[in-house]
Amino acid sequence: MRNRHEARLRPLGLDPEEAAERLLRDLHSSGKGLSTAEARRRLVQYGRNELRRRGGRRWPRELARQFVHPLALLLWVAAALLLIVGSHVVAGAVVLIILLNAGFAFTQEVQAEKAVEALTRYLPQRSRVIRDGEHVDIDAAELVPGDVVVIRQGDRIAADVRLLSGAIEADMSALTGESAPSLRSAAAVEVDVPVLQAHDLVFSGTNCTGGEARGVVFATGMTTELGRIAALSERVEQEPSPMEQQVRRVAWLIAAVSIALAAAFIPVATFGGHLSLLNALVFAAGLLAGMVPEGLLPVITLALAVAVKGLAARGALVKRLSAVETLGSTDVICTDKTGTLTENRMRPTALWTTAGVIGLTGGGTGADTGGETGAAPGEPGKQGPHTGPTAAPDTAPDTAPDGAPGPEPAPEGAPDPAAPVVQAAVRTAAACNNARLQPGEEPSGDPTEVAVLLAARELGADVDAGHRESARRWQLHFDPERKLMSTVDRHGDELTVHTKGAPEAVLRRCATLLDAQGRPAELDDAARERVTARADAFARDGLRVLALARRALPGDGDPPHEREDVERDLCLIGLVAMIDPPRPEVEDAVAHCRSAGIRIIVITGDHPLTAAAVARRVGITGEHPRVVTGADLDELHEHQIGDLLRAEPEIIFARASPEAKLHIADALRGQGHVVAMTGDGVNDAPALHRADIGVAMGRSGTDVAREASTMVLTDDNFASIVEAIRAGRRIYDNVRKFILYIFTHATPEVVPFLVFALGGGAVPLPLTILQLLAFDVGSETLPALALSREKAEPGIMSRGPRPRSEGVIRGPMLIRAWLFLGVIVAALQMAGFFYVLHQAGWHPGDATGAGSPLHHAYQQATTMTFLGMIAGQIGTAFAVRTQRASLRSVGVFSNRYLLAAIGGAIVLAALFVYAPPFQALLGTAAPPASALALLPAYPLIVWGADELRRFLIRRRAARTGREG
Ligand code: ATP
Repeated sequence: MRNRHEARLRPLGLDPEEAAERLLRDLHSSGKGLSTAEARRRLVQYGRNELRRRGGRRWPRELARQFVHPLALLLWVAAALLLIVGSHVVAGAVVLIILLNAGFAFTQEVQAEKAVEALTRYLPQRSRVIRDGEHVDIDAAELVPGDVVVIRQGDRIAADVRLLSGAIEADMSALTGESAPSLRSAAAVEVDVPVLQAHDLVFSGTNCTGGEARGVVFATGMTTELGRIAALSERVEQEPSPMEQQVRRVAWLIAAVSIALAAAFIPVATFGGHLSLLNALVFAAGLLAGMVPEGLLPVITLALAVAVKGLAARGALVKRLSAVETLGSTDVICTDKTGTLTENRMRPTALWTTAGVIGLTGGGTGADTGGETGAAPGEPGKQGPHTGPTAAPDTAPDTAPDGAPGPEPAPEGAPDPAAPVVQAAVRTAAACNNARLQPGEEPSGDPTEVAVLLAARELGADVDAGHRESARRWQLHFDPERKLMSTVDRHGDELTVHTKGAPEAVLRRCATLLDAQGRPAELDDAARERVTARADAFARDGLRVLALARRALPGDGDPPHEREDVERDLCLIGLVAMIDPPRPEVEDAVAHCRSAGIRIIVITGDHPLTAAAVARRVGITGEHPRVVTGADLDELHEHQIGDLLRAEPEIIFARASPEAKLHIADALRGQGHVVAMTGDGVNDAPALHRADIGVAMGRSGTDVAREASTMVLTDDNFASIVEAIRAGRRIYDNVRKFILYIFTHATPEVVPFLVFALGGGAVPLPLTILQLLAFDVGSETLPALALSREKAEPGIMSRGPRPRSEGVIRGPMLIRAWLFLGVIVAALQMAGFFYVLHQAGWHPGDATGAGSPLHHAYQQATTMTFLGMIAGQIGTAFAVRTQRASLRSVGVFSNRYLLAAIGGAIVLAALFVYAPPFQALLGTAAPPASALALLPAYPLIVWGADELRRFLIRRRAARTGREG
């Protein structure tokens, strides 16, 4: 597997640093990265870092597919039959229908595919690189060989990279199929191993599941390993959604019924209606062609694609078309708190030490005030009152509530920021941190860390990233299970562990407490309780609290190897409290969920009291929700979790581990719920996979979470989930609407033939077979497409979620289509037919064939049936726009597409009736004015009857609602 990069990458017999130096030299780069100008030049030279599709033109195959799907084959059979019996014109019409449908379906699919492909534009992959010596986030497509990149936990690696410093765990499954993470380190240079196994290399398309490293890009785009092996010529197959499968089944059912009907028609028409066998066959084949709902599936695909496109524009990127449907039946949202319910723009509000509480603003007071502080903490005005940097804030009462012992007597007023314990706190805050607040750069990094660093800067600490990095010897990354992060730093001869994390996690590992003078003092049970009470008091106000601690290590030795040995015997220094205000839109979205019968369960890594305060504030729970901690949850079996979820309507999971999310998702799904689950970390990926709809954050989440999820919120906003559910419900409703519309055709199409067959020769055929096919072409697909664009019916979010088991086509729908709307349309068209014949003096049994005196009147009468059908279907199109609501409540003229489609149908009908070539082909003749004058009433009657039906249903529902 040696490839051409190999000689350059794996110079034999070199030590790691030398090897790295040589590679950098070869790539004309340095540890400080490229300049912007050089990067731009290389972008032109090497091209964008993108994979190109191979295989090119697929469309001829795609188009061909449209002609051979089973329903089309059925029509081919009908056409062949017609040809055999010599009915060339009708055969031609059937072929025309096949062609039109194939063309139509093809364009729908192309459009749908384009819509899905365009989604990638909404979520370009980003990479952190060093350009002109500064860290910047760029579009990963602009990476060039020689770029120095920073890879962090959760990143998807965007190019092939040789590590220069640090170590990471990589999930290489995309390349090797091996899912166990593989350790990759700058220090591990082996010779003579296959490239993919070289421990100092990481590859495009793989994920960083832990650690942090810096490396130099040596291959981009199609020259990467991924580019070389990716079989991109294969199209990503979209599996059909349950809805499509159902509709396909029903389409087949209808096809089978049509075949049966057509077959039954032949004997009835020959014996009863005295039709020649040949003519009966022609009619049967035509009837079959008219009834097969071949346009249904492509309309559904397009409807889903349009919904996906619309959602993407509103911040929710759905990765599978079928997910739209699942969204519509979602009944539980498991959401985390930070960044989804809240803004994730944290600002420190207070620092507690044994010297007392200092109120903070997040702005600077020290020498560094000139630096940029604005972006991370957000606008102060939005975040409620806050006190100045040295006053004790209202969020930190001096005595803890609930009778817990108050903190140790604080000195009068606020402590001096220069007090030794305060300075110790801010040094730890600045050291155990990976955020950047460099002058001239946007603040960057994890928002929690930015807030901690802002606190440190405000109280005068040195927050320069360069100084911090040169002092750092070791880093223990933030681990959401331990809820801790530590660094080991050297200042002169001193080697110190700096730790920050969730208060109880830190406190558990502390042996002493730093007193006001900066000396370690005893941390007895009373002192522990005081610290806990203080943290709880902050949390109860909805603040996020982090504890800071440190430990001196022997200056001459190596730091301990085990994490457990580093994070022990710590000395507690203080607590930082920060505010993360709830997003303003969340409260409304929560209210919508309530009325829509969607349950919200908060699952957060944060403190129970903080979680409860935020959940209460946005209206998810009342005053006394049940709060279950991760530790409690670990004690429970899965069925107990299920019982708990059933018994407690208002429940919050706090200090929950990513694994807890998995158990909760399983328990809920076990109860038949359709679960949407948010997550942002690497460890959330399994839960995101397991939920029905995994939801990841586009801005704050990791690439790994985004990959595992079905939906990505480009605005990280909880309200977008609710918006997506609403869209899911809407699309489902709309699909039902056009299925209803298309199904309604069946009755008016069949009835004329039934009347003829059952008339025993007394009634001439009320509709010719070509007229039937013309109707099929002229009025089926366009209005159906228009119906898929209907706006949401009022009250869409005030009814309960659709049960998972409920099909898209239900009995009452078929009754409404076939036996209600269909029968009305059929009755009207037949009335028109008989009216014209009767006016001309026809009596049952009179001859109407060519050459007979009544022939012209007969042609006018069949034309009247044809026009009656079209007018009736216009009424149907309006009637099916709502399921229960009155049409007035959605606006009679609010669907422009439908108005246009109906306009089109009318123009086409006029052509069929008045243009001489069509008259000759279809056997139409302009009906008398007195008959035409009836037509405008048809839509009104159909629609009015349905309006009345809906009114009665609403009234009955209101009554039973009142009685209940
Ligand atoms: P959510 O699950 O709602 O997003 P969260 O962000 O609080 O909530 P985690 O990121 O798992 O969840 O954090 C859990 C806890 O770990 C936090 O409440 C905090 O106490 C602590 N913590 C978070 N980030 C850090 C960090 N960078 N360093 C140290 N401790 C941290």
